[in-house]
Amino acid sequence: MKTKLFNIILLSIFCSALVAEVLMKPTSYSNELYKEKILDGNYIASIDHPNTFLDFNYGDRVANHSQISNAILKWSKQSNKIKVIEYAKSHEGRPLYVAFISSSENLKNLDEIKNQITKLSDPRITSNGEAKSIIENIPAVAWMAYSIHGNETSGADAALGIIYHLISSTDLEITKMLEDMVVIIDPMMNPDGRDRFAKSLEQYRGTAPNYDDQALLHTGDWPYGRTNHYYFDLNRDWFYLTQPETQGRVKLINQWRPQILVDGHEMGGQDTFMTGPPREPINKNIDYDLIKWGNVFAQDQAQAFDKKNWRFYTGEWHEDLYPGYSFYVQFRGSLGILYEQSRMAEDGVRRPEGTIQSYKESVHHQFVSTLANLKTLENNSKAMYQDYWDGRKYNLSKDSKYANQTFVILPTKNHGRLNALAEKLKAQDIELFSNQKTIVTKSAVTQSGEKLSNYVIPEGSLIIPNQQPEAPLIAAILEFDADIDKSVLIEERQESLRDGSSIMYDTTAFNFTMMFGLEAITVDEKISNSLETWTSTSPQSDINADSIIWATDGEDDRSVAFAARLMEKNIQVRVIDKESILSGHELSRGSVAVLQMDNPNVADLSSIIFQTGSDLGISIDSIESGFGPELLPDWGGRHFRLLEKPQVAILGHSNFNSYDVGVSWWSLDHHLGIRHTQLNGSFTGYADLRRYNVIIMPSGYLEMSDYEISALNDWVKQGGTLIAHNRSSRFIASQESLGSVKQLNDVLDQSKDYNFDLLREIYSVEDDLDQESVLNNTLNLEITYPWELNESNYSEEELKSRDKWQSIFMPSGAFVAGRTDQKHWLTFGTPKTLPVLYGNYPVLMTGSNAEAPIRIGELIDNTDATGFRTINWSTLLAGKDIKVRMSGLVWPEAAQRIANSAYLTRERVGKGQIILFAGEPNFRGSTRGTNRVWLNAIVYGPGLGTSPRIEL
Ligand SMILES: [Zn+2]
Repeated sequence: MKTKLFNIILLSIFCSALVAEVLMKPTSYSNELYKEKILDGNYIASIDHPNTFLDFNYGDRVANHSQISNAILKWSKQSNKIKVIEYAKSHEGRPLYVAFISSSENLKNLDEIKNQITKLSDPRITSNGEAKSIIENIPAVAWMAYSIHGNETSGADAALGIIYHLISSTDLEITKMLEDMVVIIDPMMNPDGRDRFAKSLEQYRGTAPNYDDQALLHTGDWPYGRTNHYYFDLNRDWFYLTQPETQGRVKLINQWRPQILVDGHEMGGQDTFMTGPPREPINKNIDYDLIKWGNVFAQDQAQAFDKKNWRFYTGEWHEDLYPGYSFYVQFRGSLGILYEQSRMAEDGVRRPEGTIQSYKESVHHQFVSTLANLKTLENNSKAMYQDYWDGRKYNLSKDSKYANQTFVILPTKNHGRLNALAEKLKAQDIELFSNQKTIVTKSAVTQSGEKLSNYVIPEGSLIIPNQQPEAPLIAAILEFDADIDKSVLIEERQESLRDGSSIMYDTTAFNFTMMFGLEAITVDEKISNSLETWTSTSPQSDINADSIIWATDGEDDRSVAFAARLMEKNIQVRVIDKESILSGHELSRGSVAVLQMDNPNVADLSSIIFQTGSDLGISIDSIESGFGPELLPDWGGRHFRLLEKPQVAILGHSNFNSYDVGVSWWSLDHHLGIRHTQLNGSFTGYADLRRYNVIIMPSGYLEMSDYEISALNDWVKQGGTLIAHNRSSRFIASQESLGSVKQLNDVLDQSKDYNFDLLREIYSVEDDLDQESVLNNTLNLEITYPWELNESNYSEEELKSRDKWQSIFMPSGAFVAGRTDQKHWLTFGTPKTLPVLYGNYPVLMTGSNAEAPIRIGELIDNTDATGFRTINWSTLLAGKDIKVRMSGLVWPEAAQRIANSAYLTRERVGKGQIILFAGEPNFRGSTRGTNRVWLNAIVYGPGLGTSPRIEL
């Protein structure tokens, strides 16, 4: 016994000696690099210091989600100046907390304060006199939010210190501040991303500190800590509202209408510190008062930095056109303030001047900025409330720019998509209406920019008069085009020409109805008569368990999920690929039908069908007869097409774009909810691909060996459906063996052949002809062929020069018109003209082997255009014009380059098929129009586009 114990002691001494020999202590930490104390006040002893919750000294390293959460929850028990609310749970189950910090008196009255602020936001229910007294009596409200990008860590660490500082300081200035103010601290907006990055800090830590901001320790690796669980950038989601973190947060912010919203980020490690106000382009719907206040805050913050001898700047790359940043609050009357601190990870970063900036100092910058902003708000709150009140009155005034404008979303059978959009608008307090009778308007403008007079708004439209308390936000997200100054356009064009750079930080188009692929018009008058409050509707199911067919309408996106979920249960499902009427039920093209006789061995078939329909919120029609009147499809004919269960893999990792991988993954989970596999892209060569019949290749900088390419090609030929996006489509189009679709710049020498195929396609939907000449018995020697009618044909050399020049001007996120083939199964649930979000994508060309279910450019009639005209390689028929741009910045040169090219291609290869999207169809989980096409490709691809496999 004794010996044994002795041995163990000996062993442990030996081990620790060994550890000490190999693993040395790091030579320095932040506390040695940076001597200043962040928490330098006098504090109440009964409230735990942040160090209590950390295994390092506060500010030295990155605190993870549970450390920060534990501190906040404990403090809420130790102090009566803090109240904690959980406003959301991340996908990975981490709670998101905000801390309301104020005097105990204010905290008792939070509901009343919130009610007063709500009153102040609506001049329809509040008089000037009441507003005056509200402004005199309510405290200032600040929303301070940090680290929405998980790898931008210093903000959340600053928030931890700020909360402690505010609730435990005995300093009179702080006590007074909390009497004057409710400070709402949202310390960590993206806990899943933060913990992913915190984990990688552990994984890449060596013995000595690393000051090289290129090191893995600083950068992390794929999919990086910036984004949330599904690799979404949460700071682009503020009005798209696709993620639980944003949904919960926006709900609370909108209830509180804070006067300022601070959003603490980090940027490149060699940079300094940036804050507001922004530079142009600035969205024209932002109240100028906010820019004015932005300058006041920036000046005070600058003074605080000067005092500490810290460098900073304002403006430069910080623009404010896109309304989906945290600055969506600016459209609701709150001032948004951005912090961008240079990123230090944990160890600090060596700068060109030789100094090392420590992590602790970066935390200190955010800490000091926060206190400076709170002080400025305390000093100016009343005047800011007055401006806010004036702004709210302007939004509702008859003289405002919003008064004579109404947005109308036209009725659709796509209830799922329309209801989803309506919910997002309601979440922003936007008031929605509907009409039971048609309304005649003097004029209306369509999404294609067409001006129509005496337009009749059909009954059941979704009507949004712009004259509402939230007028600026309504305009920002529903107007077809954001107003951009000429001077901004000039600068942008100069930058493009100089070196291909851009002053646009995000997409230049974000119209919500175009994102959703829902048809809408703008009316330049206020529509308010005979409207009723909008309620979302879905038609009722017609339940009959003894029917022979059950069907759901194909217009509704959820019909695709219906088909996918039933197939996952091994139920045989069909799609009716042409509109029909069965037992009095009108069914759109692409409706999903389940036949009793296809599923003889499924005992509870009808109950599974009704349960699945009810889970998805869609209505099911029970059909007693398979007879379609007159020429409409009947149930035994070729239009009732059998589907095949999709078995899906998404490629991901290393060279793939994490956003596009994430949003594809999310779309499968969120829109379909069926099983699928995420497959490491580098496994393509040796994985058993036979398990899948659909492989999705999100956008990526692919490098594949000849062996991998041939493995993929063999898989396609054996019946696989390969779907690729953007850069992966570019890669496939550059391969000889993977289908015949090519990129424009590779085939300019064959432009005549491509034009020939294009003309054939265009004429194939022509619905008029000269009957007399067709039936003439004498041979007509005067037939003119379309390609002979061009005014000019460009030489290969000229086409190459044009292409080189035009490619300088490719858009960076704008809507162009997608012309859809309404007979193709890929376009089920898609309008004739589909707005397509377009960027610097591969310009795809289809020859006679491949189809182009969506091309760029809407062909419209123009009787004045009598001659045939030439657009680069293609011909524009007489009597036609082509519309390309719908919204955002599309230079005319770029519009010419992409006109008539394919956005979506589909090609039969062996027994399988290749489907290429020029762009990223699921962008930010919000391009619902193109997302539908993508869902069609996945769920219907194996059944409708490949040779059926019969299991013996
Ligand atoms: Zn950021």
